Amino acid sequence: PTMAHSKALLVLENFIGGKFVPCSSYIDSYNPSTGDVYCRVPDSGKEEVEAAVKAAKDAFPFWSSKSPLERSQILNKLADLIEHDLEAFAQAESKDQGKTITFARTVDIPRAVHNFRFFASSILHHITECTEMPTMGCVHYTSRASVGVAGLISPWNLPLYLLTWKIAPAIACGNTVVAKPSEMTSVTAWMMCKLLEKAGVPPGVVNVVFGTGAKAGEALVCHPDVPLISFTGSTLTAQRITEKSAPHCKRLSLELGGKNPAIIFDDADLSQCIPTTVRSSFANQGEICLCTSRIFVQRGIYSQFLKRFVAETKKWKTGNPSDPTIDVGALISKEHLEKVRNYVKKAQAEGARVLCGEGVDPLALPPGNQKGYFMLPTVIAEVKDESCCMQEEIFGPVTCVVAFDTEEEVIRRANGVKYGLAATVWSSNVGRVHRVAHRLQSGLVWTNCWLVRDLNLPFGGMKASGIGREGAKDSYEFFTEVKTITIKH
Ligand code: NAD
Repeated sequence: PTMAHSKALLVLENFIGGKFVPCSSYIDSYNPSTGDVYCRVPDSGKEEVEAAVKAAKDAFPFWSSKSPLERSQILNKLADLIEHDLEAFAQAESKDQGKTITFARTVDIPRAVHNFRFFASSILHHITECTEMPTMGCVHYTSRASVGVAGLISPWNLPLYLLTWKIAPAIACGNTVVAKPSEMTSVTAWMMCKLLEKAGVPPGVVNVVFGTGAKAGEALVCHPDVPLISFTGSTLTAQRITEKSAPHCKRLSLELGGKNPAIIFDDADLSQCIPTTVRSSFANQGEICLCTSRIFVQRGIYSQFLKRFVAETKKWKTGNPSDPTIDVGALISKEHLEKVRNYVKKAQAEGARVLCGEGVDPLALPPGNQKGYFMLPTVIAEVKDESCCMQEEIFGPVTCVVAFDTEEEVIRRANGVKYGLAATVWSSNVGRVHRVAHRLQSGLVWTNCWLVRDLNLPFGGMKASGIGREGAKDSYEFFTEVKTITIKH
C-alpha cells in the first residue's frame, strides 16, 4: 500500500502492563460489509504473550489483595465509561464484524456494559460453605482465593460481549488476565483498553494481546504461568487447546459450538413462535452459538408453519449494516460466506428444497456493499437427519425445517447430533414442556421464548458443546481456587 493508503488504516497496538505497545508485524483486518482492508491488527507471538503474562503476574499480588468492594467499584466505573461511549463502540463493532448497527447498539455493547455491572455486583454476594461435626469437635469451612493469571480467548461473533463475559468475572475474583480476542474482530477490545486507566484498573490487571489463534492463542495456552484458560470458540479449536494445555494440567472452561433444535408442537402459539424462531435462526446473521438451525415441526401444523415461517423470513432485510432498518448484515469473512453457501449447495445436491434465500431470491445490495460478504436468510426443507446440514454447525443464516410425529421420536432426533448447547420447545402443554426439557441433551432449554438469560444461572453446553459452565456462581467457582479448612475445638 502507498503511504497515504496505509495512513488511513486503523492500526491497533497490544495493551501490556497499562501501556499500548506496537508489534513487529501486523495482520490485515477486513470490513465485511465492503470487503476492504481497513485495519491492521498486531500479529503477536510468544514474545508479546511472554511480556503480557509477566505484566499480569507482577500485578497479581496487588490486585488479588484488594477487597471485593474495591474491585467492584472499579468494574462499575468501567461499565459507566463503556456505556458513555456506547454509540462509538456499537459503530466500531458493526464495522469490524459486519453485524447490523441495531444489533450492536441493542445487544452487543449493552451486554458488555451489563457484564461488568453484573459481576461488580455478584462478587459482593458470594458466601462460602461451613459444616459442623459435633461428635468430632470439628467445624469445616471453605475459603476461596484468586487463582493467578487467566488466559481468555474469545471468538469473532459477539466480540466485546463475549470477551467481557470473561474479563469481568476473572478480575472481579482478583485474577489478572491476558486476553486474546479473535484476530478478525479486535477493535472494540482495543477501544476498551483505552478506558482502563480512567476506570482505575491498575496496570497489568488487564492485558490484551492481539493476533491469530495459532500464534498468539497457542502461546497463551502453552504458557506455564497461566493456570486457567477460559475459551469460547469452535469445538475443533477446543480439542487442540485441551491437547496443548494437558502437560500443564490447566483448568479449562470451554464454551463451544451448537446445532440447536427448536421443537414445535401442534399446540404452540404460532403467532409468538414464528417471529421468535425466525429471530433465533437469523439474528446476527445466524452467527450466534445459540442460534436455531434444526426446526422440528409436528406434522399436523407442518405445512402451515412452513408457509408462515418463509413469509416471515422474507420480511428480513439484508444490506448495509450501518442502515438502522437492516435486519441481516454481512458475514464475517469471504471464506466463511463460501463455507455457508456450500452447505446450501450440498443440501440441494442431496435433494433438499431451498424455500427462500440463497440461490432462490435476488440479493440487491447498495453500490458500496457489492464486495461485502452478504447472504440472504435461507430456509431449507425436506432434508434428512443424516445430512451435514442437520449435523454440522453452519454458523450462518441457514435453518432447516423438518416434520415429526411423536414426542418420543422428536426427543431422539433432537438429541441425535454431537452437540448439546441450546434447545427451544414450543407448546402450551405445561406437562409436556417439562418432560421434553428434562430429556433434551442440552445445557440450556428455552420454552416458548429464546435468548432470555439470567446471568445468575449456569451457561454452557453438553457433549461437544463444551465443558464447564459460566454464570454468577459458576464463574466464581471457575475463577477462584477453593480450599477446605478443618478446625478442631
Ligand atoms: P475459533 O475456534 O476458530 O476461534 C476462537 C478463538 O480461538 C479465536 O480468538 C482464535 O484466534 C482462537 N484460536 C484458534 N486456534 C487456536 C489455537 N490453536 N490455540 C489457541 N487459540 C486459538 O472460533 P470462531 O470461528 O472464532 O468462532 C465461532 C465458533 O465459536 C462457533 O463454533 C461458535 O458456536 C462458537 N461459539 C460458542 C459460544 C458459546 O458460548 N458456546 C459463543 C460464541 C461462539
